[in-house]
Amino acid sequence: MDLLNTLVDKGLRRELPTRDEALAVLATSDDDLLDVVAAAGKVRRHWFGRRVKLNYLVNLKSGLCPEDCSYCSQRLGSTAGILKYTWLKPDQASDAAAAGVAGGAKRVCLVASGRGPTDRDVDRVSETIKAIKDNNEGVEVCACLGLLSDGQAERLREAGADAYNHNLNTSEATYGEITTTHTYEDRVDTVQKAHAAGLSACSGLIAGMGETDEDLVDVVYSLRELDPDSVPVNFLIPFEGTPLGKEWNLTPQRCLRILAMTRFVCPDVEVRIAGGREVHLRTMQPLALHLANSIFLGDYLTSEGQAGKADLEMIADAGFEVEGTDQVTLPEHRAAGGCHDGGGACGSGGGGACGSDAAPEVSEPRTAPDARTDLIAVRRRGAGTDLAPNA
Ligand code: SF4
Repeated sequence: MDLLNTLVDKGLRRELPTRDEALAVLATSDDDLLDVVAAAGKVRRHWFGRRVKLNYLVNLKSGLCPEDCSYCSQRLGSTAGILKYTWLKPDQASDAAAAGVAGGAKRVCLVASGRGPTDRDVDRVSETIKAIKDNNEGVEVCACLGLLSDGQAERLREAGADAYNHNLNTSEATYGEITTTHTYEDRVDTVQKAHAAGLSACSGLIAGMGETDEDLVDVVYSLRELDPDSVPVNFLIPFEGTPLGKEWNLTPQRCLRILAMTRFVCPDVEVRIAGGREVHLRTMQPLALHLANSIFLGDYLTSEGQAGKADLEMIADAGFEVEGTDQVTLPEHRAAGGCHDGGGACGSGGGGACGSDAAPEVSEPRTAPDARTDLIAVRRRGAGTDLAPNA
């Protein structure tokens, strides 16, 4: 397919595909799916070899959030029956993190529900970061605490944080339909604060919230313009008790196309399969490793993932290897910090080359998949419980 040859060439050169090319990836048929995976896999292997980075989530504070993000089981008014607890103590968080590191995780992601941290919260998290770093040599720590106020990113950096996560989640045009208590611009601002403080920015999306192909392409192009080092791709877990609890519209094939499109648009970035991997990719998870170079090990914030051992077996069976703490995740030009100037090949999306007036191809109508509520299990182990973590 000419489209795929073009996209591979561009991916190897870090050149931005046109919007029509990105839309065409999402519109490919199931007959072409393996060709799409093979093409995006070439780009993935060029920049990241066969390495898979493992990340481990520690939910520092669960539920009780005053914000109204429709997709979130921790939102205001959620009746999802998740674990609810306030801040873990540094030693509790450090113990949970150690289990993830022992399981092979290279990065620990410290997440807290809420609109954003108070300065006292930043103090708490700073103590937690120190405890984790003291106990786990070489581990990367990413904080994910919501919207940041001035100076907080710098304080987290000084405390030893390596990265900060804040997802854009969906397109600017539809953001107001998903959340009303903060704006898309608020989210962009926090990612920029993280960047400016010298933290490695992590920002991604959630697919499966009823968005169009155009929305998906919009958010991935916006991410390229923001230029994070890592892009988590979440597939909506439709929790009963949340406004999107009936939103079952992803198939494993569509998930693979979304990951491939993300890889073509952000070729040299850590593309991470995040929440919903087991629920939506199901037995197709190993194919997704040809597209993404990073996954979460074990459980998610409020839901259980497959056993950490099964994650490791899947990686080995598919012919990939777990990335070690002695290996550098990002390609040399990016790891050296040369790609954070918002210009040039790696940060210039949004206008110019990616704008096109041609009509996008329209995806074939596909039958809505069955709701797989049987695959959603609320997390009942690990952080905030007396049971051992899954790692
Ligand atoms: S995504 Fe974050 S801010 Fe939004 S409801 Fe969930 S915990 Fe709160």
